[in-house]
Amino acid sequence: RAKSAGRNRIAFFEAAMQSDVEQRLALENDLAEAIGTDQLEMFLQPQFDAAGQPDGCEMLMRWTHPVRGPVSPAVFIPAAEESGLILPLGDWVLREGCRTVLRLQEAGHPLPVSINVSPRQFRQIDFAGQVKAILAETGADASQLIFEVTEGLLIENLEETILRMHELVSIGIRFSIDDFGTGYSSLGYLRRLPLYELKIDRSFVQDTPGNPDNPGDTAIVQTILSMAGHLGLRVVAEGVETREQADFLKAAGCTALQGYLLARPMPVAAWLQWQ
Ligand code: C2E
Ligand code: MG
Ligand code: MG
Ligand code: MG
Repeated sequence: RAKSAGRNRIAFFEAAMQSDVEQRLALENDLAEAIGTDQLEMFLQPQFDAAGQPDGCEMLMRWTHPVRGPVSPAVFIPAAEESGLILPLGDWVLREGCRTVLRLQEAGHPLPVSINVSPRQFRQIDFAGQVKAILAETGADASQLIFEVTEGLLIENLEETILRMHELVSIGIRFSIDDFGTGYSSLGYLRRLPLYELKIDRSFVQDTPGNPDNPGDTAIVQTILSMAGHLGLRVVAEGVETREQADFLKAAGCTALQGYLLARPMPVAAWLQWQ
């Protein structure tokens, strides 16, 4: 009996695995078809300075599948990275970033616009050339664009990454390390990179101030802030959801706050209306 139960369990496991693969392929197929249609939209989540004034915004992709409805970027971005679809998607995001810079300027409320750049997109040989071409084509001002990259980018080919960052910085692009604190950055790395900003990962923000289950997180946030202060970097706290978190972060010297407490990601048109 034990043997056959074991076998059944394996058969079930295999079936589940297969359907995972099938699901993944279906998702990638549908995502490929969504590119260039109105299923995909970039939302914008504003960031606020200590005085409560908007001083930046992050563009976040939204996918409304015709049958499944909204699909989380946490699901489809990793699939896009693995399949390579992130390259055409990333190209589109860059264009949308530039268009948004122009729309915000035209509306009389210019704000720096942050976009997420995936490692695979950044590592393309001609990435800097692509960025320059899209800037020229759209006429957007590079100094209004911030590229959010993750610490994962720094693990491989650090020298090449630094060179490419410098090339983009020389045309006015600014760089931010996203989800900071979850990866491998050491102070040594950070000093070598032409950075503008760090974004403290939501997981640390969640447990400030002084969640008794995780007292270390308050210390981590304070350490990041003091390190960023020494390096002259702007710091954005991600995922600020409560008044207590906001008060703590402001008192600790955080430059800007982003999170549901202040504003949720919204269509660009909604932000312009709200402003
Ligand atoms: P991320 O870049 O770290 O973006 C922040 C995420 O936190 C977003 O999730 C945002 O909606 C969410 N968020 C903001 N405020 C709060 C809050 O107060 N509480 C909570 N619980 N969450 C908050 P989203 O939009 O689901 O995106 C997830 C991830 O997918 C992003 O993390 C980013 O890594 C990736 N992503 C999204 N759009 C793009 C894109 O256009 N290109 C690339 N390469 N990646 C993207
Ligand atoms: Mg981000
Ligand atoms: Mg983040
Ligand atoms: Mg993230």
